[in-house]
Amino acid sequence: MSMRKIGILTSGGDSPGMNAAVMSVARSAAYYGIPLVGIKRGYNGLLRKRLDIREDLQELHLETVLDIADEPGTFLRTARCDEFRDPKYREIAVQTLRAMEIDGLVVVGGDGSFNGAKCLCEMGVPTIGIPGTIDNDLGYTEMTLGYDTAVNVCVDAIRKIRATSRSHDRPAVVEVMGRHCGDIALTAAVSTGSEIVVVPEVPWKVEDVARQLKRQLAKGNTRATIILAEGCYSAMAPFDLYGYLTTHGKPCYEGEPMSAVRFASVMKRMCGMVEARATVIGYVQRGAEPTARDSSFAFEAGNLAVRLLRDGISNQVIGMQKGRVMYMPIDEALRVKKRFNRRIYDLVNSL
Ligand code: ADP
Repeated sequence: MSMRKIGILTSGGDSPGMNAAVMSVARSAAYYGIPLVGIKRGYNGLLRKRLDIREDLQELHLETVLDIADEPGTFLRTARCDEFRDPKYREIAVQTLRAMEIDGLVVVGGDGSFNGAKCLCEMGVPTIGIPGTIDNDLGYTEMTLGYDTAVNVCVDAIRKIRATSRSHDRPAVVEVMGRHCGDIALTAAVSTGSEIVVVPEVPWKVEDVARQLKRQLAKGNTRATIILAEGCYSAMAPFDLYGYLTTHGKPCYEGEPMSAVRFASVMKRMCGMVEARATVIGYVQRGAEPTARDSSFAFEAGNLAVRLLRDGISNQVIGMQKGRVMYMPIDEALRVKKRFNRRIYDLVNSL
């Protein structure tokens, strides 16, 4: 059966390159003469929550998407949709797709979105996933859309932080995103020559990091930089933050969780430094224009998604292996365990 229409949605956290992927799908669909429907706010658009249908579903003409390809963010919007975990609501989504004559769906998102896509596949909707997340937390693929851009934002920021740190002989603490995955922290650390990286994949102790920092200071490295992955606190050995800070002259409230700012305060006191500053890079990592690497991946992935659907191949996710764009069954991909690059981690922390 030929595809009457293809639908596309972006879901989960936004990532640079989502628009480029939509543009590529639109260009490829236009090339094969298949109309494309944009679904708004992730799976929400399929549940028809808005009174005006145009706020849920919109025919995507090439003319519209050509303007958005290089833009950060996602033109289709993205949102979480908790109802979609409930089969009753997924049934509504399938009905919407049938009513709109959408015979194939492209989902751009992370592992959560892929779980939603898998459910749709099981309900008979041919679906293709494109990995759109800055976190790089999917085991089956070497890169996810937005990861390279996020890393480059971090590299740019860390270089600037290290320049000012050196001017003041003042070590720095920098927290980067990545949820439970330390890849952004690791790649940003190794790309900037940062001295210490702390990630959720490796259990760690505050006292050990302080020892590492002291070693750098003893060598005269006064701009030593500690890169913290945002999820690293989950792998931290128990540490009495309140007890430590209040006995060292820093007000703190009981039960306060560890954070980059608090961590810098602790390092300052444990290492006897005059000052240590913390920077949380935050959402600029998600809102940057996609790098060439992310844009080209988006372009290839978007085209492949349309070709697969046109050829009757579905229930697959697209990724990158050994530097080449590939695809594999969605359920198989979701079972591949993410591997952490311990070799780079040890290298960064050892010199
Ligand atoms: P990401 O795709 O970035 O990992 P989330 O984990 O928030 O982001 O998932 C995005 C959306 O995917 C959720 O809001 C929900 O609509 C859908 N989703 C996530 N997990 C499931 C699941 N197990 N079953 C069905 N839908 C899911």
